[in-house]
Amino acid sequence: MRKRIVAGNWKMNKTYEEALSLVSEIDNMVRDEVNGDVTVIVAPPFPFLQSLGKLTQGNDLMHLAAQNVSEHDSGAFTGEVSASMLKSVGTEYVIIGHSERRMYHHEDAQTLYKKLKATIAQGLKPIFCCGEPLEERDADNHFEYVGKQLHDSLSYLSNEEFDQVTVAYEPIWAIGTGRTASSQQAQEMHAYIREQLSRMFDAEAAFNTSILYGGSCNPGNARELFAQEDVDGGLIGGASLKSRDFTDIIKSF
Ligand code: PEP
Repeated sequence: MRKRIVAGNWKMNKTYEEALSLVSEIDNMVRDEVNGDVTVIVAPPFPFLQSLGKLTQGNDLMHLAAQNVSEHDSGAFTGEVSASMLKSVGTEYVIIGHSERRMYHHEDAQTLYKKLKATIAQGLKPIFCCGEPLEERDADNHFEYVGKQLHDSLSYLSNEEFDQVTVAYEPIWAIGTGRTASSQQAQEMHAYIREQLSRMFDAEAAFNTSILYGGSCNPGNARELFAQEDVDGGLIGGASLKSRDFTDIIKSF
């Protein structure tokens, strides 16, 4: 069965105290107001994972993600954090290949593949991001661009490894810009992604993979986006920093 997922990518925001408050507010609101079957994930910065891991462990509603992971298991990699470290503090998911990491940290397809492998090897679940820049969409090359991103990082995984992966489609022109993809643009890309996945892996795995939309998703547009057949939830940036907005998005299925 395909899971419905709403994940909040906090990026480099919040202090420790603010992080604790935000998670407990979301937890309370979700408990009181959400009755559907939705997997709620928060992805805070690294320093807060351990404390938030204590809050989310054994919590059936909230799950914890890291925003990044090293492709290496351990050793002399100053400043890096391994998948086993993330696991040891209660992290369940890892965002891999966010466009900001591809852009500012030059993470290429091969590096992302290694991060996927390292993550899955520790029993963690990757949320693999893809999405085109504006010039590729304007040139009508967006399907090809995203197809190549999927192929270049995912296609070397086995079917069993791929079973652990959630995909997030995040058109770069929609991230943090206030300009969201229309529900039709999202649906056609999600359907295309699912079709590409069915060529790389078995059809059932592709059918069961959750594909999230990300890019200026908010309480005003989430319902229409989530109503699309191949949109299984959202990866939320800005709106995940406010408990009211994030919960309203979770309630949009
Ligand atoms: C993101 O960066 O993953 C994202 C979707 O950001 P925003 O919702 O702010 O566009």
